[in-house]
Amino acid sequence: MSENKIPTQEEIQRDFAEFMKQKYGDQVRVGLEIQGQREVEPPEEQDNQERIRRILEFDMTPREVKAYLDRFVIGQTDAKRALSIAICDHYNHVRHAHENPETREEEYSKQNVIMVGPTGVGKTYLIRTLAKLIGVPFVKADATKFSETGYVGGNVEDLVRDLATQAGGDIELAQYGIVYLDEVDKIAAPRNTIGRDVSGRGVQMNLLKMLEDADVELRSPLDAAGQMQAVMEFQQKGKIEKPTINTGCILFIVSGAFVDLADIVRKRLNRAMIGFGGNVERDEDADFIAKARSDDFVKYGFEPEFIGRLPVRVFCHQLSVDHLFEILNSSEGSIIRQYERAFRAYGIEAVFEEGGMRAIAERSEAEQTGARGLMTVCERLFRDFKFELPGSKAAMFVADRAFIEKPKATLERLLNDDEFRCRSAARFDLRRFSDEFRQANEIDLEFQETAVDALIERAEAAGEGVYETAAELLKDYAHGLGLIRRNTGRTRFEMDAQVIADADAALNEWIRASYAQKLSPNDSN
Ligand code: ADP
Repeated sequence: MSENKIPTQEEIQRDFAEFMKQKYGDQVRVGLEIQGQREVEPPEEQDNQERIRRILEFDMTPREVKAYLDRFVIGQTDAKRALSIAICDHYNHVRHAHENPETREEEYSKQNVIMVGPTGVGKTYLIRTLAKLIGVPFVKADATKFSETGYVGGNVEDLVRDLATQAGGDIELAQYGIVYLDEVDKIAAPRNTIGRDVSGRGVQMNLLKMLEDADVELRSPLDAAGQMQAVMEFQQKGKIEKPTINTGCILFIVSGAFVDLADIVRKRLNRAMIGFGGNVERDEDADFIAKARSDDFVKYGFEPEFIGRLPVRVFCHQLSVDHLFEILNSSEGSIIRQYERAFRAYGIEAVFEEGGMRAIAERSEAEQTGARGLMTVCERLFRDFKFELPGSKAAMFVADRAFIEKPKATLERLLNDDEFRCRSAARFDLRRFSDEFRQANEIDLEFQETAVDALIERAEAAGEGVYETAAELLKDYAHGLGLIRRNTGRTRFEMDAQVIADADAALNEWIRASYAQKLSPNDSN
């Protein structure tokens, strides 16, 4: 280090850690790490300016934002609507505030959000996706890691500082960011306890200051490295710069499962209903939670001012088997793509069939951990495959329902049973054929097991591949099934052994029946 250069915070941290280690050995960990990663890259002027320009030009409608979310997040319709509105309102306000810096909208209350819902159902995913869409820095932390004093764990202001780190040190960009604080239900002040443990309330009060409009020093008073740097700066320049981050345009989103909230709401509704001689139906907990009002949150253990600063309430629901199936089958972030890529890297094609994905969804639902269950179940199912298949004779496998139910047996056969392997390859070929057919003609061909057998037999007899055999045999089907679709609207056709045995006869019969149906549509025969 040269004499007159002020060291960076990282250099100070490194020196300090080294000093502590020499003095006390490995048992002592240097508390500086708690402050989070502070590897502040020198900001790329151009880039950040461009990002800020994009944020200030953000002009999507809530409907457009929701349509964007729909591509990634399955279900949670109400949450998506509420968040789309909150996000559009907030960034319209940000633009307004930027364009009129002198006129503060006194009456404006920020659209801070409280999200309630079980784990793994897309709460973080929703917010992350929104942050990406708008291009703002995003920081997530668990409320439980903060303490009232900040000496143990961390200080809530670190969240705001981390935004600056995320923004490559650009304070203006950081000031448009989103802070996401999970497990906020854990900082509710415990009910029915006297005295002890007021730290939850303390953390709430610290958060409260930031939710509206506060200035947070870029350098934490607890961050020894940051403070040392400031002192050295002072010695050299004769003044200390105290850059601050203003939280006025930072959007805060807090979330939690709030399991006991259902009981509080249920009690309140019961009480209210009794007055009318009514009878509250036994409802799912989630439905009660979705009816929570501010006073219910206060009963739960939140300060009224704190909950009052979180005007947007968003409720997320547990994911059903259908949702989980759809997440696998059609969301852009599906983990199926991840597995396909992972196997392809070993030269193995993994083919996921509808029945297989449904079976995975059913198992995942039983885990009750939302979409996280999908990862757990897949990891369990495919671990042995990832170990055994690379380098074996198997170049592909089909994940159908039978596979999900008996993965070990399937693996065994893939490794040792030539016939089974050949059959799997045939199904892969047919899948490719029907995918292409669907793309070209918008018609689904469903190959039954008997059809697969019949095609393998034909292909072997002809000394050709199954794909080529199917293409040759069904060459008139694009035109013929197109006719039927025009006549009847039918777009799905089951292919069985009979169809394969005499493809032309089967097609002619279907066409004939379609004209009959067209001429007398009410005749069910
Ligand atoms: P949490 O509700 O606990 O914040 P996450 O949003 O972190 O859960 O979900 C974990 C992962 O599961 C996400 O990264 C995403 O891949 C997937 N996921 C969860 N919910 C959904 C959903 N509704 N649609 C699509 N993917 C989802």
